[in-house]
Amino acid sequence: MKFRTKLFGGFAAVLLLLLIFSYLVLRTFFMMNRNMHGIVDDNYSKVKLANIIQEEINSLNTETTELLLDVNSDRANERSANIEALKFSLDTNLNALDQMFEDQPDASILAQELHQLTDLYVESNDAAIKLLLNKKKDQAIQLHNRDTGPIRLKLFLGLKAFSTLQEKGMDQSLMNSTRTYSFAIRLVVVLLVMTLIAGIFVAIWVLRSVIKSLGYIVAVMKEAAMSANNDLLPRIEVATKDEMASIGHAYNIMAEALEDHARYQQQANLLLQEQNWNKTMVAEITAIYQGIQNLNELAGRFMSALTPALGASYGVVYHRKEIEGGSTRFVKIGAYAPAAKDIGADSFGLGEGLAGQCAAENKRIVLTGPPNEYIHISSALGTAPPRQIVIVPVPYESSVVAVIELASFHPFTPAHLQLLEDLAGLLGITVNSVSGHMQIQQLLHESQTFTEELQTQSEELQLQQEELKTLNDQLGEQIKASEQKTIELEHIKDVLEDKNKHIMLASGYKSEFLANMSHELRTPLNSLLILSQLLAKNTEGNLNLKQVEYSQTIFSSGKNLLGLINEILDLSKIESGKLEVNFAWVQLSNIVDFIERQYEPVASDKDLQFHISLDEDIAGIMIYTDGQRLQQILQNLLSNAFKFTEQGSVTMRFCMTSKEEINEPLADLLTDYALAISVQDTGIGIPKDKHAVIFEAFRQADGTTSRKYGGTGLGLSICQQMAQLLNGFIRIESEEGIGSTFTLYIPTGKVPSELSAPYENEAAAALVINNDNSNERFKEQMVPSLEGKKILIVDDDLRNIYALTTALEAHQIRIIFAENGQEGIHLLHQNTDTDLILMDIMMPTMDGHEAIREIRKIDSFKTLPIIALSAKAMKYDRDKCMEAGANDYISKPVLLDQLLSLIQVWLYRQES
Ligand code: ADP
Repeated sequence: MKFRTKLFGGFAAVLLLLLIFSYLVLRTFFMMNRNMHGIVDDNYSKVKLANIIQEEINSLNTETTELLLDVNSDRANERSANIEALKFSLDTNLNALDQMFEDQPDASILAQELHQLTDLYVESNDAAIKLLLNKKKDQAIQLHNRDTGPIRLKLFLGLKAFSTLQEKGMDQSLMNSTRTYSFAIRLVVVLLVMTLIAGIFVAIWVLRSVIKSLGYIVAVMKEAAMSANNDLLPRIEVATKDEMASIGHAYNIMAEALEDHARYQQQANLLLQEQNWNKTMVAEITAIYQGIQNLNELAGRFMSALTPALGASYGVVYHRKEIEGGSTRFVKIGAYAPAAKDIGADSFGLGEGLAGQCAAENKRIVLTGPPNEYIHISSALGTAPPRQIVIVPVPYESSVVAVIELASFHPFTPAHLQLLEDLAGLLGITVNSVSGHMQIQQLLHESQTFTEELQTQSEELQLQQEELKTLNDQLGEQIKASEQKTIELEHIKDVLEDKNKHIMLASGYKSEFLANMSHELRTPLNSLLILSQLLAKNTEGNLNLKQVEYSQTIFSSGKNLLGLINEILDLSKIESGKLEVNFAWVQLSNIVDFIERQYEPVASDKDLQFHISLDEDIAGIMIYTDGQRLQQILQNLLSNAFKFTEQGSVTMRFCMTSKEEINEPLADLLTDYALAISVQDTGIGIPKDKHAVIFEAFRQADGTTSRKYGGTGLGLSICQQMAQLLNGFIRIESEEGIGSTFTLYIPTGKVPSELSAPYENEAAAALVINNDNSNERFKEQMVPSLEGKKILIVDDDLRNIYALTTALEAHQIRIIFAENGQEGIHLLHQNTDTDLILMDIMMPTMDGHEAIREIRKIDSFKTLPIIALSAKAMKYDRDKCMEAGANDYISKPVLLDQLLSLIQVWLYRQES
């Protein structure tokens, strides 16, 4: 039953009881009231009527007595009338009394008796009055006293009895009323008690059932609260249909929701735990291989950390290698195999087997329950096949750089696989950076070897410097200035060594460094060469032969040094791909002439025969090549031939040849026809095993060669690379002790038949301009004197100014000088008769380019010859000077004759 019903029912019963109780109490009071009224209304009126009757009888008696006694008085009539009225009233009242007691037999008899007695009294009274009226007063008084007195007494006794009867009735009524009252009190108490009991019973009944149900619910809820297992909460059994059932129902829904929530929470916690585990493992494992720069060590450490972390037993990692020929293989670089020394294949190709497939598709492969013969995981205690095998690709950008394969007794969980994928992704980046690092390491190593070789050369240079220094000492005061330069050269050597170290960092800096180095070396070399040349000339005649020889040695050592610097620079330019080749049509005979002119004196100097043989059919041809580079290669080959030949001859041959004749793999470089230029000598020759080596930089056939013959071992390597730039190559044939033949093959640019005539007009344009060559040219022209000419030298290096001034003043040239561009312009304004300017380019405050531009802005100096001097030997330096407005360009170190020739050309061109 519902609590509401119970409560309503209980309280309705109590209310009903109260209603009955009220009714009964009211009824009792009503009866009591009626009893009281009975007493008052009935008995009192009866007693009152009896008393009235008694008073009327008394009045009648009094009136009658008065009348009898005094019948003649004035008031006799009045009394008679009163008597008559009293008799009438008496009769009325007696009748009323009779009627009043009709229902009371006792009282009714008494009333009748009273009525009769009253009648008797009235009759006797009337008889007395009658006698009086008959004038028988005495008789009348007598009769009255005799008869009426006893009747009246009886009447009074009767009336008294009547009153007593009525009093009795009143007592009876009072008793009834009292009884009714006490009954009412009892009734009230009983009903009150009953209502109370009923109320308590209802309250207890309702409360007990409520408490019981609530207790059950509270117990279930407590149990739920105490339950450790939030996804399995107790339920309230709903057997009734009351409010408790609703609460139970609501609770059950809530418990279900709580269970759902707990389950969700558990799942979320699980997920969070997995994520935390994943992050921790990723952090731990990646920390393990931080800083490793070797792939095998990286793979070893990675697998040692990863395999146990995933609960796997075996693990192998393969690294991608691009094999020559374009194929890709994955090579084993590390394994985790506590019980097996060697597991897994050594390598596999893309798409080969499952691992190859995984690499090809960049997709994970999981093998569950591999067959028994697949692989066995073994330990000292036993061996069993794994339950699961997983193969994952290690990606980097869009390619697979490695593959990991793991075998485990337990199936891999999704968390394991996720960790594996995350780590593979990170490993990809590391593998890539480590292999990159290893490559750099390799390059660095090579670069170090190169630097070491450079170092050896530099030490040799130092030795030469020391020799120079000794010579300088002997030259005394006059060449102290040169000594200073030598010290500076030493300092520059240090700079060179420092710079060498930079080469190790990146080969890209090498060429820049070498360019700078050549600049640094050329600047002091400039003054060294000029001054030693001056000394060697001994114009004042104050040096003895020995001293002149020393000066010549300094000059030739300086020139050697310059050659070396040029070679190093060339080599670095070639290696960094910065060497420019300018193809143009070149007249072959020009080259032959130049060679002849240059090496005839050398041959006669060394007492050697020198032949040049040129097939007639090619004597007049033009070839499409870089003339300057071709000349450089031939010069080198010839210099070597003369250097390494003590007696016999040096022969140079020019002939056309076809690709097939050459019979050499490199011949593919050529077009169908090629020009073969061979330089043959009868010198010391080169052993067969050294044929390849001598083309490498700094390599010589015999380590002691440089001691005996000098040289750096750079020449041939430069020649070979230049030949390649000209789309050709050099071949060597040599036998130790007999002689060597170096042959240069270069394409002609056309088939032989087309190689002649039409280009003859362009021959002049294609004339190979060579510094030494032009030197010769100028020498021939050198006729006019320079005496009295005024030249402005602008250079920030006082040593250069000093050297140039000394040299030029020897030709009676007047020199003014400035240490930077601004100063130079200032000086020019003061010396408007200046004939020519020698402008250094690299200067502080205002550099040469800017200074030339400023000078050209001034009208009076628009045509003033300006020759730019620069220690930078790059081609674009020359172009930059010309652009700025210089008339000519000469690179440092300046060769005196060449400079003088140039000055003459520009001074007299101006005049003519
Ligand atoms: P360098 O001559 O400055 O040492 P090269 O690169 O020109 O450097 O030559 C490398 C080496 O090859 C020489 O040191 C020498 O041992 C060998 N060599 C070159 N040309 C000849 C030659 N004509 N006869 C014998 N040996 C030669």
